[in-house]
Amino acid sequence: MSTDQTLNSLFAEHLPDIIKNIQFYKETIFSQGWDSPAVADLYHLTHKLVGSSGVLGYQQISLAAKVIEEKIDPENGQFSETLTKEAFEGYINALLEAIQTDQSVLRELNKPVSKSQMGNVERASKLIYLFEDDAIQAFDLVGQIENYGYRVKVFDNLDLVEEVVRQRKPAAILMGIDFPEGRMAGPNKVADLRARGDFRIPVIFLSTSDHFSLRLSAVRAGGQAYFIKPVDIISLIDVLDRLTHSDQEEPYRILLIEDSKFQAVYYAQILENEGMKTMICTQPAKVLDIMSEFNPDLILLDMYMPDCSGMELANLVRQVERFVSIPIVYLSAEQDIDIQLRAMSHGGDDFLSKPIKPDHLFAAVKTRIIRYRKLRSFMLRDGLTGLLNHTTINEYLEQELARAQRQKTPLSFVMIDLDLFKQVNDTYGHPAGDRVLKSLSRLLKQRLRRADVVGRYGGEEFALILPDTPGDNARYVLEDIRRRFNKITHLAGDQFFSVSFSAGIASYPEYATANDLKEAADQALYQSKHAGRDRVTLIKPALPEIYKAEK
Ligand code: GH3
Ligand code: MG
Ligand code: MG
Ligand code: MG
Repeated sequence: MSTDQTLNSLFAEHLPDIIKNIQFYKETIFSQGWDSPAVADLYHLTHKLVGSSGVLGYQQISLAAKVIEEKIDPENGQFSETLTKEAFEGYINALLEAIQTDQSVLRELNKPVSKSQMGNVERASKLIYLFEDDAIQAFDLVGQIENYGYRVKVFDNLDLVEEVVRQRKPAAILMGIDFPEGRMAGPNKVADLRARGDFRIPVIFLSTSDHFSLRLSAVRAGGQAYFIKPVDIISLIDVLDRLTHSDQEEPYRILLIEDSKFQAVYYAQILENEGMKTMICTQPAKVLDIMSEFNPDLILLDMYMPDCSGMELANLVRQVERFVSIPIVYLSAEQDIDIQLRAMSHGGDDFLSKPIKPDHLFAAVKTRIIRYRKLRSFMLRDGLTGLLNHTTINEYLEQELARAQRQKTPLSFVMIDLDLFKQVNDTYGHPAGDRVLKSLSRLLKQRLRRADVVGRYGGEEFALILPDTPGDNARYVLEDIRRRFNKITHLAGDQFFSVSFSAGIASYPEYATANDLKEAADQALYQSKHAGRDRVTLIKPALPEIYKAEK
């Protein structure tokens, strides 16, 4: 295998071999008879094909392979029913034909998507190396992981590890345990690399066995996690996110309100040096506008300014509901403790005296922000998925819509509802349902841009705000997410299942107010459900009667 393979091209590349093998088994069975050992080989091949092509969405191949798989008893490697030669040949030909047809689909899929088609939604994805000698088994895993925004390269040969890591360092390595070289070749290889020096890439081991000695070998090799196949994909992605810092925190945002530009710049620089983002406001009259745009985590407030006092400004900010709990810290040369206390009673949270040492300033700001962000996340976010809750998403919609109007840019609002979700709960249990909700929320966060707003609107309903995105682009993005979500297999006990969703999209300027957008998106969602679910509908306003008459 070469070092640069995407899932589809990997699969496509294997298809000619698979075709050759199928033909070889057919010939062999014809010449040796029904008790040929090639029957067992044919079983293994079709069995793998059912899984891998099914996961990739090539239903024809999967179905045709399943017909053959089901006719063979894996226990003794024999056909479980009497077949005529013609019938057998018919099944084989159907499978070969399915592969030929779906190969053209593959070629189509492998064509690079043009930039304009994608809009500006593609996010830089993290690179993962998967070492797995069973390529077909790797398909399943790669498909699942890539659905969550990682890019995976598969290698079947342990000897390649050093070379490919030297060429390009991955964010993490997924490593099998058992290889042709030995039962613990995977861990041994990693242990070897770690022993030789600076090999610091996180490694996750994947194994079919829960055996203690294997787990121990993985730990000794410095493995960060150990997963049993079939892998619970949500847990694996959790670990990958953690190890590769996918959830990296946004920089802290500090607003400095200070009439002396010189001082403001000085303190801002101290904070910026620590990786924080700052905004300076020297005109108190503009503070609310700036706050809506900048959305600070904390305000550093001067006590004495020409137009109004710091205390007045703190009161003013606190009277806006959204900013009721934002930390306000006075930063002033005022030394009088009585005045400091009075200032604190007027909506301030702390009082720092100038001059202040850079690390004191930084530490005071940081602890306040950590606490504030935690508090806010309880208020604004849904406990299960961590997404914005209903109230918050509505507030964001108003805010983003105002911005779109101001900047004369489009905006799309999307409503998503899981299909037949009650059935999922009834069949697989409520905890399994919860995991599906989490997996969709994760997929949405991974696939969308930072500027997009993702919320849980209700039980199994989600809402998205896509700024600067016309309806047609939004539909393209949602179609992609819909397809990816369909391919995710969820695990409940030892049962696999998949779930689909329906979506409705409405966009600004076609719909001009938040209420119109919500109503229209809801109507579009209803149309998706009504038309059979598992689809995305973009709604456009009907032409006014007057235009219709003129046509
Ligand atoms: P439709 O395709 O028409 O939307 O069918 P549906 O079954 O999804 O719709 P319905 O509104 O009848 O049922 C929604 C179900 O979603 C009912 C409820 O059990 C489930 N649900 C809502 N919130 C949660 C949750 O937090 N966790 C879980 N597991 N299930 C939830
Ligand atoms: Mg001043
Ligand atoms: Mg619903
Ligand atoms: Mg539903």
